[in-house]
Amino acid sequence: MAIIGIDLGTTNSLAYVCCDGKPTPIPNPLGQTLTPSVVSIDDDGKILVGAIARERLISHPTASAASFKRYMGTNKVFFLDGQTFTPQELSSFILRQLKEDAESFLGEEVTEAVISVPAYFNDHQRYATKEAGKLAGLHVERLINEPSAAALAASQISSADEGSYLVFDFGGGTLDVSIVDYFDNVIEIIAVSGDNHLGGDDFDEIIARRFCSLQQMSYDNLEPIQKASLLRLAEDCKKQLTSQNQTELIWETENKNMTLTNMDLAKLCQGLFDRICQVNTNALQDSNRTIADIDEIVLVGGSSKMPVISFYLQNFFQKKPCTIGSPDEIVAMGAGIYAGIKERKQDIRDLVLTDICPFTLGTNVINHSDVDNPILSPIIERNSILPCSKTNYFTNVYSGQTHISIGIFQGEAYYCRDNIKLGSIEMDILPVPVNQAHIEVCFSYDINGILEVEVTDHQKKQKKKKVLTSDRFRMSDAELNERLETLQSYKRMPPGGIRTRLVLARGERLFAQLLGPRRKQVADAIQQLQNAIQEQSDPQISNCLRMTEKFFDHLEGF
Ligand code: ADP
Ligand code: MG
Repeated sequence: MAIIGIDLGTTNSLAYVCCDGKPTPIPNPLGQTLTPSVVSIDDDGKILVGAIARERLISHPTASAASFKRYMGTNKVFFLDGQTFTPQELSSFILRQLKEDAESFLGEEVTEAVISVPAYFNDHQRYATKEAGKLAGLHVERLINEPSAAALAASQISSADEGSYLVFDFGGGTLDVSIVDYFDNVIEIIAVSGDNHLGGDDFDEIIARRFCSLQQMSYDNLEPIQKASLLRLAEDCKKQLTSQNQTELIWETENKNMTLTNMDLAKLCQGLFDRICQVNTNALQDSNRTIADIDEIVLVGGSSKMPVISFYLQNFFQKKPCTIGSPDEIVAMGAGIYAGIKERKQDIRDLVLTDICPFTLGTNVINHSDVDNPILSPIIERNSILPCSKTNYFTNVYSGQTHISIGIFQGEAYYCRDNIKLGSIEMDILPVPVNQAHIEVCFSYDINGILEVEVTDHQKKQKKKKVLTSDRFRMSDAELNERLETLQSYKRMPPGGIRTRLVLARGERLFAQLLGPRRKQVADAIQQLQNAIQEQSDPQISNCLRMTEKFFDHLEGF
């Protein structure tokens, strides 16, 4: 039985499977490879995913959710029209769609998958991803790290062969740069670096802001729906610049337009390039490598398609980056290749978390210029080899202090408030003059994701210990099964008529975006299509569908 490989992305998801040893993309019902990672609930409570849900993000924002991957492994809940879902439940809807697409493509049941996750995902996030798989009826054979999957695809598909790779993964909202060695069937992630809030979305926003400033409009004062429309147009404009050097952003509703070239884009986005440079430099530094040690630079993620990016990277590395197929499919392709290897019962070792701690663990220290806003004092730094144990010393900040609170934080941010708080240890101490207390704080982190924090007060000769395991957010098997039943009771959209549904959803989105006569035209088009669906035969419906699509394309300037 086939095992499929899945890239469960923040912006888009997709699956690959090995057919006669060849990695093959699995099309969704719309015939596309990428399925937007968006979920929406329709008026009769049915679950919609993918392109239709993406349209509804604009027309029905309170019934739709996107970017939930960012919250995997946390206890955040999403409200969709009054119903609550966890990030893994929303992810499970996407996975179920991919599973069913694979089943219709292969003509057999699919129950096993390899899913890719970012290398920096911690134990909670990995566990939540497996849970999402279970909720979708998939046994997750293994998780593979995204950069490992990309390196695997690069080594198998290109002439690159084994070696040292720099994987540059630039998606919708995140940039991940990893140094990966692949030798003798062992893929080893040497270092990971990234910016969690840098991606294609930032380019869209810069284009939109530029448009507003040229038109003497205030971007920040746009209504949410106007903002969403403009961002959508800016994204289309950005994508056009991959295949042509100049394009036009036409905002019909506002009767305004702007010409944009790749050169303009490069100038406007200088600030983003500086941030990209920082991430590349960190990855090289943390791995103790120089540019000369890297055999291949692998372009991954939709945003890597931008000519301004490959041009920038070629300059930075003084080497031509390699592109294998479409950058936004490489991770899934690698996961599919890995699934194929599993099917043949061979193995490749994918090393990451077992060897390094991908984030910094530390405690809080006083910020004298703003006492309510403590600063992170790193104890175990990111990319430390595991298991690892480090001790730092702290003291009292004022004379006669009788209590000390040792916060335990995970993250790279300067201020504690911007990192994840894992817990704290409270301790009463003897009152002594300032700087006289001797507080020893020891952090030990092992390969199973268990963090032990021990605080010793040498004056009072007291010790306090806290063990933090990764199962704080885990559901028991009974809870999982109960949730599984509830989720299965949600009806999903029947597979037939998906194109019609997409056109109708697009119509509703346009209706929400447009005003005046054009809005009326959209309403009429929706009405006509609905009448056709109710009253007419298949050829007439598909005729009407084509005309409506054409009309919408025309409205959106395609
Ligand atoms: P993720 O890994 O976040 O799920 P993807 O790798 O699918 O995301 O990348 C999505 C991003 O890629 C979006 O910001 C999208 O606008 C951008 N993108 C996709 N195709 C192109 C293109 N042809 N030119 C420029 N950007 C693109
Ligand atoms: Mg991705």
